[in-house]
Amino acid sequence: MECNDPKCPVHGHLKTRGVDIEGVVVSDKAQRTVVVERPYNVYLQKYERSLRKHSRIRAHNPPCMSAKVGDRVLISESRRLSKTKSFVVTKVLERESK
Ligand SMILES: [Zn+2]
Repeated sequence: MECNDPKCPVHGHLKTRGVDIEGVVVSDKAQRTVVVERPYNVYLQKYERSLRKHSRIRAHNPPCMSAKVGDRVLISESRRLSKTKSFVVTKVLERESK
């Protein structure tokens, strides 16, 4: 697939550093951007229970990745790409099965 996105970690010249996060795409409405949700547990000592929470991270989605809603993806931290983006999709781990 053709990819001429300069913000692509494979075909462009975007370097990644920092953390890699695994999550599920919950929105692909924006152009070349996906929203990735990452669930995590918080333990509340007072009630001796854990609470399921999730964070949402906006990540750049280059054309060669073209992650869609429901896909499990790996995102890597990069320089700040826009006001709300500092991650990029580096791998689609699992496509949503139809
Ligand atoms: Zn690419």
